Order: sequence, then structure tokens, then C-alpha cells
Amino acid sequence: MLPVKQDRIITHLPKAFSPNAALDTKDGFHKQVTAACQEQKTSTEGLNIAKVIVVGDVAVGKTCLISRFCKNAFDKNYKATIGVDFEMERFEVLGVPFSLQLWDTAGQERFKCIASTYYRGAQAIIVVFDLSNVGSLVHARQWLEDAMVENDPSSVLLFLVGTKKDLSSPEQLAHIEQEAVRLSEEIKAEYWPVSAKSGDGIRDLFFRVASLTFEANVLSELERNGSRNVGDIIRITGSTEEKPTNRKANCC
Ligand code: GDP
Ligand code: MG
Repeated sequence: MLPVKQDRIITHLPKAFSPNAALDTKDGFHKQVTAACQEQKTSTEGLNIAKVIVVGDVAVGKTCLISRFCKNAFDKNYKATIGVDFEMERFEVLGVPFSLQLWDTAGQERFKCIASTYYRGAQAIIVVFDLSNVGSLVHARQWLEDAMVENDPSSVLLFLVGTKKDLSSPEQLAHIEQEAVRLSEEIKAEYWPVSAKSGDGIRDLFFRVASLTFEANVLSELERNGSRNVGDIIRITGSTEEKPTNRKANCC
């Protein structure tokens, strides 16, 4: 297997964008997680995977967000996403291989009828809105509600991501950010403003998503093994989610 790219290695918990709209504000990874990773370093088998779904209105920039991170590319010509399922992005977190499975919609959001296979088993939900379009922020709440029907609220990490930061003046940004932070607090999501065009905030966002889903996976593995005692953990394997059999989500 190819080694993980040097710029995908995470050794410290990255900081949230804003402490007012953060999933947590601690300085580093949970002690048990760090210790478990140190212990099992040599016996790690396979990859840990977290399913991350990306939802939001059509044309808010979901596909560009994923492409900027995974391919470091930005295409200013709008193409409706057709037939894309997910991108795999490999990381190494605290010495352990870990992948994000980033699910893009196949254009179904146009019809507001995303299939349950798309939503099911997500460890993180990225609700995307366009910072230059207040309506898309208003709709964020509905997207989240739809996605949560298929998921357990206690185990999903939420990110509220404002895109196209490059299009707004600082004053416009401040105004919509106030609303976004308020919504983040209410739905318990972490807020990130980004630009796929300039790349601003993209890497920090996905590193945070990778770190927090990884940490949650390890903690739940520790719990499943019946103990928080690090010594009991031999290796961290697999993920809690089912492997997708039907890679293309069908529209209703
Ligand atoms: P999706 O339907 O949510 O997947 O939206 P896309 O990712 O396809 O983007 C929709 C349109 O917004 C495209 O024309 C993109 O070029 C544009 N776009 C996406 N992200 C940005 C950004 O960060 N800045 C700017 N200026 N335009 C963007
Ligand atoms: Mg798209």
C-alpha cells in the first residue's frame, strides 16, 4: 500500500475556527486516545474509516469543497454533479492509518430527495451553505434534519461550513457569520468559513473533521471493548459503519 502523503499526517489536534462555535475547545487529543494509539502502533490492521456526508442546497459549493481538498483543484464552471459517490482521503492520525470517505451527492439535492443509503451511517455531517446567500443558511437546518433521520444524534459530529468566502466583503461576512455562529450553537455544530476558490480554511476544516472523527472512533472502540483501560486495547480496526454495497445512491 502506498504511504500516506506527508501533508496528511496529523500529530496534534487542530484548533477549531472559532471557540464560540466549536465541537470542543480542548488543546489536544483525549489522553486515552493518544495512549491507545501509542500502544497499538505496530499491530494496526487495515484502515479506520469515517463516513462523512456533505449536504446543502444545490450550487452552494459542495463538490468544489471536496475537490479542493482531495485534488487541490477548483473549476469555476458549474457542472451538476452526476454519478459521483465518494472520495477517499487517506490520513495518518497519531501514527494510525485513517481515511475519510467523503460522500458527495449525485445531483439529487436538486430534487430534495436524497436516498437513505447516502445518509446512513455517517460519522460526520458537513452542512454546507453559501456565505453570499442567506437563503442557503436558512435551508441548512432542513438539510440537517433530513440527514439526522438516518443517524444517531449522539454519535454524529456536525460541521456547518460557509463557502465562497472570497465573494463577500468583511462587513457582509460579519453579518452572515453572526447568524451562522448562532445556528451552530443551536444545532451543536462546528462553524467553518472557507473558500474553495482560494483554498482558505479548507485544509484546516478537513484536518479537524479527520481528527475529531478519528478520536470519536477510537473512544467508541475503547468503550465497545468494555473498558476505558488502555491496556485492554490491542488494535483499532474497521469502522462502525456498514460497507456500502450500492455505491451509487438512488434517487427516490
Ligand atoms: P454543488 O452543487 O453544491 O456541488 O456546487 P459546486 O461545487 O458545483 O459549485 C457551484 C458553483 O459555485 C460553481 O460555479 C463553482 O465554481 C462556484 N463555487 C464553488 N465554491 C466556490 C468558492 O469558494 N468561491 C467562488 N467564488 N465560487 C465557488
Ligand atoms: Mg455537486
